[in-house]
Amino acid sequence: MTKLKVKTGNREELYNITSEVQSAVDRSGVSDGICHIFVPHTTAAVLIQEADDPAVGRDIATHLRRLFPRGDPYEHNDGNADAHMKATGVGNTATVFIEKGKLTLGTWQGIFFCEFDGPRAREVWVKVQG
Ligand code: ZN
Repeated sequence: MTKLKVKTGNREELYNITSEVQSAVDRSGVSDGICHIFVPHTTAAVLIQEADDPAVGRDIATHLRRLFPRGDPYEHNDGNADAHMKATGVGNTATVFIEKGKLTLGTWQGIFFCEFDGPRAREVWVKVQG
């Protein structure tokens, strides 16, 4: 397993980590297999979405804020309940097939780490299976 480090700079932001995940695949030497991506945090997530236009990531963050407002009353009262809700909605795992040593994403897709309670030092765990 590879532990990728992600240093986030804002409370909420999506980071394109496709090239870092591809580097982990490269280092594994696997040419035909599966890449599992796991985020070991409760206020962050992983998402496969459009990588061509960065506005898509900003729209996702904006609309998740509308869906789970920070000021809503939550029973969990350490100030980041909205971030737990957002992470729940997005999910903390992704799986991508590997063919000829490359992640086989759709034309417009990229892999994004989603920060919902930054800035923090985060990890993304990547396991490559041949
Ligand atoms: Zn919390």
